[in-house]
Amino acid sequence: MRAPVLAYIGLGANLGDPVAALQAALLALGGLPQSQLLRHSSFYSSAPIDSSGPDYVNAVAELSTTLTAPALLLALQQIELGAGRERPYRNAPRTLDLDLLLFGSATIHSPALTVPHPRMAERAFVLLPLAELVPEQINAADLVAVQGQGIWRMAG
Ligand code: ATP
Ligand code: CA
Ligand code: CA
Repeated sequence: MRAPVLAYIGLGANLGDPVAALQAALLALGGLPQSQLLRHSSFYSSAPIDSSGPDYVNAVAELSTTLTAPALLLALQQIELGAGRERPYRNAPRTLDLDLLLFGSATIHSPALTVPHPRMAERAFVLLPLAELVPEQINAADLVAVQGQGIWRMAG
């Protein structure tokens, strides 16, 4: 039996009912085998960056898991499919996006999976919710660099 790893998952949606999609995704994450959903951040609303369509709703979840990183990625993709995720073109609006941001202290470079997520440091919609959960893992200079990005913490 492998030791459990803390995985951080970025959730995002901007089609349909994004809040409901994120709530359903959190339930699905909590139901994953060999895994426990420990915490999640507040929900944030953000203007699309390199993308289009309505504003996004974003959050980050903290999962304790004994799944391998590739197995977890597959599970995340299954949850996306269940939420009706389609990929008509790069950065298209989406009903649900689940990105594996961090997997313990692992560094992974495989064709299907790069961890830490290669673009997370440039994105306020990742850094702000992640900083609620693991502030010590966020680089202060990265937070300063994303200050101009339009993002709001949602009430509730
Ligand atoms: P971005 O990766 O810039 O956030 P995106 O989330 O819109 O863009 P997707 O279409 O959801 O991109 O994913 C494209 C591919 O990225 C997936 O097929 C997956 O294999 C790969 N991928 C690589 N690293 C990761 C990761 N850390 N988390 C999720 N997917 C990843
Ligand atoms: Ca993404
Ligand atoms: Ca993705």
